[in-house]
Amino acid sequence: MQKMKNPNIKGEGYQQGDLYGYQTVKQFVLARDNYTCQACKKKGGKLKIHHLIYRSLGGTNTVDNLITVCSECHTTKNHQTGILAKWCQDKKQVHKSYKGATFMNILRRRLFTAFPQAKFQYGAWTTLQRADLGLAKSHYNDAVAISGIKQIKVKPTRIVMFKQFRKKKRSLHEATARKGRKTTNVMSKRNAKNTKYAKGFWLNDYVKIKDSRSKGYISGFSKATCYIKDIFENYLTVSPKYKQVALSKLVRITHNNNWSRQEINEKNYQMY
Ligand SMILES: [Zn+2]
Repeated sequence: MQKMKNPNIKGEGYQQGDLYGYQTVKQFVLARDNYTCQACKKKGGKLKIHHLIYRSLGGTNTVDNLITVCSECHTTKNHQTGILAKWCQDKKQVHKSYKGATFMNILRRRLFTAFPQAKFQYGAWTTLQRADLGLAKSHYNDAVAISGIKQIKVKPTRIVMFKQFRKKKRSLHEATARKGRKTTNVMSKRNAKNTKYAKGFWLNDYVKIKDSRSKGYISGFSKATCYIKDIFENYLTVSPKYKQVALSKLVRITHNNNWSRQEINEKNYQMY
């Protein structure tokens, strides 16, 4: 992963990561940003370390996701609509995660163990084949190219995307009984949101918001409201201020336990 970030790295460079010489991530970020708020450019004062891609959106604690912001700029409002929200949006668009690469490194070995007759193909070759077929860059079109097809007679305009839902809540503090208890903490009050059912709706139900064309999957509950996401994990909302949608505003289309399924068009599956 380090070589992917810095192709010239060698020798002891591998032992000198982003944090080399710094005791904490926080110290490094403050020094890198010259103890200056990167929003208002004011130096000193009460400085905070801000996550460019929010923690709630899967942002990591790596230094490239952290930035110095003063306490006056680090406000709730700025997170919702101000400069911090804009940074988050911008970074999300160019952000390249290596999670996929790591996953493939693990999966590849297991695939070759399970399917010894499988053939290996480099991405560069796939790219050439795909160009010959006149297809745009996408995972879907890569699969078409790898299949060895020589000519495409009819090009699909839409494809169906499937995605598996999370099966378990992985929070250890909820799965493990607290000191002196014999049962797990799933029933405790603060876990009231941790429910699979509310007012006739189940987690992962495919629903439609009344009086709109929005359709998506219930990803969580909060009292008489819930969160709805599409297959790309975007929230579907009725107001720009809140992510929650009242359950009374929903109509169930189908009940789903395992898989989300969404028809997407070429624009959605192309990669840039
Ligand atoms: Zn500031």
